[in-house]
Amino acid sequence: MRLDIISIFPEYFAPLGVSLIGKARERGTLDVRVHQLRDWAHDVHKTVDDTPYGGGPGMVMKPEVWGEAIDDVIGDGGPRMIVPTPSGRPFTQELAQELAGEEWLLFACGRYEGIDSRVMAEYGSRLRVDEVSIGDYVLAGGEVAVLVMVEAIGRLLPGVLGNVRSAVDDSFAPGAMRNLLEGPVYTKPPVWRGHEVPDVLLSGHHGKVARWRRDQALRRTVATRPELLAEIDAETLDKHDRRL
Ligand code: SAM
Repeated sequence: MRLDIISIFPEYFAPLGVSLIGKARERGTLDVRVHQLRDWAHDVHKTVDDTPYGGGPGMVMKPEVWGEAIDDVIGDGGPRMIVPTPSGRPFTQELAQELAGEEWLLFACGRYEGIDSRVMAEYGSRLRVDEVSIGDYVLAGGEVAVLVMVEAIGRLLPGVLGNVRSAVDDSFAPGAMRNLLEGPVYTKPPVWRGHEVPDVLLSGHHGKVARWRRDQALRRTVATRPELLAEIDAETLDKHDRRL
């Protein structure tokens, strides 16, 4: 998968050189190219922003510089373009899964009050453009949002996780864990500072372990994110639970 990222702070993306994503890049599973937006600004100050039409505080990123940058980066190609913004559609595990199926993604990192809307209109007529929010809060820029998305997408690519089952059992994973949070996990020793690992996990009985994990996932979801459960239809829950 090819990933292009355009930002005025390319140094934010140093963490994409370490851990799972770093290894995926070394193996060639991921081709990450980070671009400095200011390279497409023409004045001596390398200006990328201007005052907003209609007045108000803050600055808006200029369309001309974004247009030149995107045209050069994509050439005749057609990546799917992702624009992080608090006013976008929510970034979910389902969307991460969908984006992991793309061959080429282009991320446009906004700063200040965001990017002039005509940039999204222009490329929306040629590419698939999604404005995406990573949560109901406001960051200073799109860089951290892109790091979040790249990590969530990258770990779903074939061969990136050591064990593919890890992604299947995750919270929110499609299938049995959809709209459920993963329950508690334990490793050795069986007793630590008086805290014991639940007996069922030491039983070696796969059916009972699966039932227990399912119950814990339901309990945790009810306790912390009850609204997620409301979105699962009762029949899907029953069908899965009858199999356990
Ligand atoms: N004035 C904008 C608003 O209220 O929607 C916020 C602009 S924010 C200070 C600057 C940039 O940070 C945005 O253009 C976007 O790239 C990024 N950003 C901030 N919060 C975000 C979020 N929750 N999800 C994705 N990107 C975000």
